[in-house]
Amino acid sequence: MQRTLALVKPDAYAAGHHGAIAAKIQESGLVIVALKSLHLTRTQAEGFYHVHKARPFFGDLCKFMSEGKILAMVLEGNEAIARWRALMGPTDATKAPKDTIRGMFGTNVERNATHGSDAPETATFEIGFFFSGLDLA
Ligand code: UDP
Ligand code: MG
Repeated sequence: MQRTLALVKPDAYAAGHHGAIAAKIQESGLVIVALKSLHLTRTQAEGFYHVHKARPFFGDLCKFMSEGKILAMVLEGNEAIARWRALMGPTDATKAPKDTIRGMFGTNVERNATHGSDAPETATFEIGFFFSGLDLA
């Protein structure tokens, strides 16, 4: 069993796609073991994406991630990290197949509807960023 962090980003949340995205996760067999909606501050978004601090897109990304509400979820299942990333599709929504979540609900390389952890270590950090031990008991 493995856990990963999934986010519905502000673009997809504002468009009302968070319910459809949660349904697709459940249909895939991954289990949503914790869930909350919240509105990140700019500083909180910078903390979440600190690994990308040196990248040219960092400022725009953090502005985007703090523009409105998001849905944060912890997903559990065998190979949850890779399975959720496969369901999302590639980062650039314009190149994502239409049967992936980013292909369905994303707009471009930045406004791409969802986030998923990329490795066990990042999943641990990212789950802990949003959820406490009690949320996951
Ligand atoms: N991003 C961007 N421009 C880029 C690459 C990424 O705006 O050229 C944004 C996009 O929202 C992406 C996030 O930064 O989801 C994190 O980038 P990463 O390379 O980690 O992609 P992901 O793991 O989300 O597929
Ligand atoms: Mg990433």
